[in-house]
Amino acid sequence: MIDCAIIGGGPAGLTAGLYATRGGLKNVVLFEKGMPGGQITQSSEIENYPGFFDHTKSGMDFMDGWQKQCFHFGLKHQMDEVLSVSKSDDNFTLAIRGKDPIVAKTVIVCTGSTPKRVEIKGEDEFFGRGVSTCATCDGFFYKDKEVAVIGGGDTALEEAYYLSNICSKVYLIHRRDTFRAAPSTVERVKKKENIQLILDTRPKEILGDTMGASGLLLEDKNGTTSTLNVPGVFIFVGHNVNNSVLKDKNNNFICEVNEQGQVVVNLKMETSIDGLFAAGDMRIDAPKQVVSAAGDGAIAALGAIAYIQEQA
Ligand code: FAD
Repeated sequence: MIDCAIIGGGPAGLTAGLYATRGGLKNVVLFEKGMPGGQITQSSEIENYPGFFDHTKSGMDFMDGWQKQCFHFGLKHQMDEVLSVSKSDDNFTLAIRGKDPIVAKTVIVCTGSTPKRVEIKGEDEFFGRGVSTCATCDGFFYKDKEVAVIGGGDTALEEAYYLSNICSKVYLIHRRDTFRAAPSTVERVKKKENIQLILDTRPKEILGDTMGASGLLLEDKNGTTSTLNVPGVFIFVGHNVNNSVLKDKNNNFICEVNEQGQVVVNLKMETSIDGLFAAGDMRIDAPKQVVSAAGDGAIAALGAIAYIQEQA
């Protein structure tokens, strides 16, 4: 039996591994189905992690030292996909694809989330080169420039407002004429002079060239097309939370989750199941940033250490 199983090797999982091993747990295994690093390894640069300010380095370079540091302190990496977690008799059992199950005293789930896409032409081609799903990460690159935001929920409106404080103008494109957001947020956005609403309109294609995105092809409800020339397109049409490991064979969650499938945790990253922790992008109210995912991972590991000590 292992002391602590960590599922997911992004910033949350790696930081949990660092704190768990340095905190004295002897047998800590990180189950990561690919190479450790997580989503940020897809990014060409990161400039909002305190202490790291090097425009020549990519997200992949940024994460390289994290795993080395963890492995130095004894974290073991198993390149496996965890299918499910269950608890019985105070211990957890992890079902692993193609392998025997693993039993652990405590589990920290850090499987992240994946932003949804609108699935239009140019979206993949220009992702990271003008197309983004994170205003906090990439908004600053468009300082004093015009950008488009796609979406009509709370996140789209809040992020459009955030961007309007950085960018010269924000076009908010929504396929309906009403928003699925809190009325107070809608009012705030409508009052902001540099946000222009483009309603009843769908994005058809992201346009661009070898330099990156340069605009959007739009189609309104009458089928009339138009072009919007913007270097930045932000897509906020929801997130898929990677929570399948927390479902039992009847497809029910083993711990409490909210309507969006985000795991409900308290300030100690404890879930509704004793000894089961969740950290990073998959938890409720996650800011979806590396710095916060890392903080969550540290908190969860300290909780896991305390939990094991209480059980002994
Ligand atoms: P993730 O990084 O998503 O890691 C989860 C890991 O779990 C993945 O490696 C996945 O392979 C693994 N996994 C999932 N399911 C299983 C399973 N069943 N079994 C085993 N392994 C599994 N944040 C910033 O702070 N600044 C930025 O500039 C920034 N830029 C970004 C740019 C891009 C293009 C993207 C995509 C994200 C960016 N972010 C940025 C957001 C940041 O990357 C995330 O907030 C952060 O990575 C979340 O960390 P996490 O550990 O919670 O999850």
